[in-house]
Order: sequence, then structure tokens, then C-alpha cells
Amino acid sequence: MSAQGLQFQYWEPRVEKMPRAAIEELQLTRLRAAVDWALRTPFYRERLGKAGIKSGADIRGLSDLRRIPFTTKHDLRDGFPYGFLSIPRDDVLRLHASSGTTGAPTTIYLNAADIDRWSNFVARCIYGTGCTRADVFQNMITYGLFTGGHGFHAGAERVGMLVIPSGPGNTTRQFRLMQDFGTTVLHATPSFLLHVESKMKEEGIARESIQLKKAFAGAEPYSEDTRRRIEGLLHIDVYNSYGLSEMNGPGVAFECQAKAGLHLWEDGYIGEIIDPDTLEPLPDGETGELVLSCLCREASPILRYRTRDLSAFYTEPCVCGRTHRRLRRITGRTDDMLIISGVNVFPSQIEEVVMGMKEVGNNYLIILEKDGALDRLIVKLEVGPDIFMDDARPLNALREKIRRTLQAMITINPRVELVEPGTLPVSEGKAKRVQDNRPRDV
Ligand code: AMP
Ligand code: ZN
Repeated sequence: MSAQGLQFQYWEPRVEKMPRAAIEELQLTRLRAAVDWALRTPFYRERLGKAGIKSGADIRGLSDLRRIPFTTKHDLRDGFPYGFLSIPRDDVLRLHASSGTTGAPTTIYLNAADIDRWSNFVARCIYGTGCTRADVFQNMITYGLFTGGHGFHAGAERVGMLVIPSGPGNTTRQFRLMQDFGTTVLHATPSFLLHVESKMKEEGIARESIQLKKAFAGAEPYSEDTRRRIEGLLHIDVYNSYGLSEMNGPGVAFECQAKAGLHLWEDGYIGEIIDPDTLEPLPDGETGELVLSCLCREASPILRYRTRDLSAFYTEPCVCGRTHRRLRRITGRTDDMLIISGVNVFPSQIEEVVMGMKEVGNNYLIILEKDGALDRLIVKLEVGPDIFMDDARPLNALREKIRRTLQAMITINPRVELVEPGTLPVSEGKAKRVQDNRPRDV
């Protein structure tokens, strides 16, 4: 099929173009099964029990979704490590965690069927942008506990692309790989893609020496202007990729070739937009907090998860013919979580580290800036009264200790600046600890 001169291709045409009524019927069947899985976890046995839901059969129609209480990140942390596990531990094949969490992480578990379904969703996203087995895919995103690396790796292999598991960083090596193997598709955070472009210029890499056609960019918010800028600079198509570890990771919602919103795969997820204050559902078209229920995971069922991400559903159907509703690109969050180079950081994690050190004084400031295209985290701290600012050696040792401890906690390497007691601004009301100086539309 074609529209606007585009050739659309579908990984699973029957599912992707399923009539709405059939999608909803499928959702209901899968929601009942998901409730049954959930009832095997200590957390939901209690939570759903209180709401009078004793079995999946108690869900009579999709409107009964509203009887299920919300689940929050806080709940997940409280349930750490196994409060949300629904199967015997011996049947778990893998675990993943939210980026940046090293303390009390929000962890999800996957069995063989879960990994299989997840990989299929990512393959659907990749294939829907026009990729084929002839493509060479360089996965420039973190592997490890973070879901982005492994999720895309598996999806791209399923499409049959040649996968280069490069991970992020070291642009010189990235360029070598692109040139040596003829990379056609990249996956990275949007800021890393911008960084790649400036490094290309700096290192004198000719555009003709690489064969790039597309990139998938996600893990952090970015604007339409940023997308256009990356596309213009690198001469490629950029597709927005949205996901979160609580819902498996990538493969939740993705742009098709029309690049007009992200199709939420509604055979795997139920999406709702709620008013974050009243918690009441909002009609399609209105902006609010995205709430997601995972219908495609047995080992860690998570229902009505408050993502804290702000979005809205488009109301018109997409020109590509897919019937799964599209989400508007995420514009922000309803909590104070910071996304620094794609890594989730809560100011409270930083506070916990610095306020736990007796050498640190009473005030600190978290500053976010751009260093070229990349994010830079600066933590400015007042030293305690016993520290002498003119004694360089202990001061350097303290700075290094704070830097190391913070990096161990949040995985980001910050720049630590120490200042005299009483020199950081004191606000009269609620302390303003975060100064985000990153321009919104880079
Ligand atoms: P994680 O659980 O570490 O994968 O982080 C998930 C969070 O990253 C989401 O809840 C969003 O806040 C953010 N995120 C992921 N993809 C995007 C995207 N395409 N646009 C904006 N924010 C995103
Ligand atoms: Zn579409």
C-alpha cells in the first residue's frame, strides 16, 4: 500500500491492521489472562483482592479496567525484589531494570515466552520503518540492565538484519564500524546522534563514506525540531521510539513511515490518558499522563502503570492503514525525574548521596547543561564548616569521592564543584535544587 509516495510494509499485517472491534476483543481476552497472572504475585493478590477482583473472569468488559488500581514506581520499589514475580524463579530467564537505578531498582523478569513476544514487538517496529534483512544495524545504545540494547538487538535479529552490537560511546570506533560494514541503520539517543554528527565533522568523515539511511531515536524526550535537525544533518530518516522497562522496554510505541505519532501496539498494551491530578480518564486528543497495562508478559505482570509521561492520543486514523492508535511524542513528565543522556535520575538519588556525607554542607544544586550535543550533569555543593577551601589536596580527594559515589549510584559521571558554605542561593519557599539549562529545542 502507498500514501504520500511511501511504500508501507507490515511485519504482521493481520494484527497491525486489525479492525478496532477485534483489537478490543483481543485486549479483553488478554487482560483477563494478565489479571490471572497478576493474581499470582504477592503485590496484586493483595491490591486486586481489595478491589474485589479474584480472577480474570471478574473483568467483564474493557471498562472494568478502571476497577484495577493504579501501580506506581513507588509500588515497584516497595515490591523489590520479587513482589511482582508471578512464576517460579527457576522459570525466569532474564531480568532488566530501569536505567539509572542501582539502589532499589525497579526490576522486571522475563520468561522464554515473554522474551519471544517482546522481540516480536521490536521487530514489528523496525520492519514498519522499511528495514529489511539487507540492512546493517548498529546498535549504539547501552546493553546491560537497560532494556534498550538487548531489546533492539533481538528485534533486529528477528528482522534478519546484520546486527553490530557496538553499544554507545567512542565515536571514532563507531565510524570505523559504519565504514567497514556498511551500516545503514542506527539506534541511539537523539543527543548521541547529534554528537555523532558533530564528531563526524570534527574527524573529517565524509558523508559519502558511510551508507546510513535511518536511525531510531528514543530513551529521552526530544522535539520535532530536533528530529528535523538530525535528519537534515545526517541525511537520514529518524523514527521516534518509545518504551520503558516496566513495559519491557523498546517496542511499546513506534513511528511508522508516516512519522506522525507513535503507534501503540494495542495487542500488547492497553493505553489510557488520565488527568494526573484527578486521575480520571481523558478523551482522545487531550494531553495527560499515559497509563499502560502490559498484556504481553507473564513473569512480571504490571497493570495500569502510571508512566508519568505526558502524551495524548491522536484521533484521526494513520495513512499507513495501521489501526493501533498513535501517541503524540512525549513532551514531559508529571514527576521530577530527570533524563540525562537517556538515563533516568531522580534528584532524591543525588540528595541521598550528598547529604549522607558529613563533609558536605547544607546546600547543593543540580545543574544540567549541554556539552555540545551531550548532556552534562554538574553537582554544586557547599562544603561543611570543617573543610578549608584553601587546602587543595583534601578538597580534591573529597570532590573525587563524591564524584565516584554519585557515579556508582546513578551511573552518570558528574562534574562536582565545591563551594564555600553559604554561597549557594537559598530559596524562601520550596528549595529549588535543579537548574535545567538544556535548551528544549536543540
Ligand atoms: P527506562 O525505564 O529506563 O527505559 O526509561 C523509560 C522512560 O524514558 C520513559 O518513561 C520516558 O520518560 C523516557 N523515554 C523513553 N523513550 C522516550 C521517547 N521516545 N521520548 C520521550 N521520552 C522517552
Ligand atoms: Zn502509521
